[in-house]
Amino acid sequence: MAAIRDNMQAVSERIARAAAAAGRSADAVRLLAVSKTHPPALLEEAFRAGLTAFGENYVQEALEKMEALAHLLGERAREVEWHLVGPLQSNKTRLVAERFDWVHSVSSTKVARRLSEQRAPGCAPLNVLIQVNCSGERSKSGVAPGDALALARAVAQLERLKLRGLMAIPEPTRDAAVQRERFRAVRELYEQLRADGLTLDTLSLGMSDDLEAAIAEGSTLVRVGTAIFGARRREKDAA
Ligand SMILES: *Cc1c(COP(=O)(O)O)cnc(C)c1O
Repeated sequence: MAAIRDNMQAVSERIARAAAAAGRSADAVRLLAVSKTHPPALLEEAFRAGLTAFGENYVQEALEKMEALAHLLGERAREVEWHLVGPLQSNKTRLVAERFDWVHSVSSTKVARRLSEQRAPGCAPLNVLIQVNCSGERSKSGVAPGDALALARAVAQLERLKLRGLMAIPEPTRDAAVQRERFRAVRELYEQLRADGLTLDTLSLGMSDDLEAAIAEGSTLVRVGTAIFGARRREKDAA
């Protein structure tokens, strides 16, 4: 069980090496621990090892872990930052608006508008990333690159949301050149949005198997599950 601390150390070293190779500071890349399917005790262990941002894919599962961690961590549970990284249906927006700090998967104005309306005035604005479909037909999640600017402009107008940037999940491939090409396309889109006048600071790219390529292309936040927590239990069981 000391494994999580060791894994986290190894991932931090990978991030530092990739950043150095790209001439970037390791501090410019945040590590989000993607904890879907893993039990609260493992999140507690990760927290005690120094990880404070957790990414979850399923709203119900995340809410259960929030409760569990409130008991396990007491006061310190407030230090945890919760990110929704999985697809968000419009009938689930209320719980997300109420309980999460970040959403990485906004891909429609309808969902964005609901999140903004449902975010309590007493909370800080909900941090939002627009998910871009950078692998064309092969993936159904995310907005088409050509529609990202219009969506970003609309989201930036919403009062209770803070648009922070873009997220993408390229199709899995071991080919580092293809990984780089997909990530580069998303980064170029991100630069276009900034050139359009949007204030963005987050590019959520890279997972356990491709974080080096993502960091080489400018990722500022890597979403890492397996390399921290080990293999997942079957996701169907946890959903
Ligand atoms: C599961 C998941 C991850 C983590 O993937 P690993 O390959 O286990 O690191 C990252 N991002 C999203 C959106 C995920 O669903």
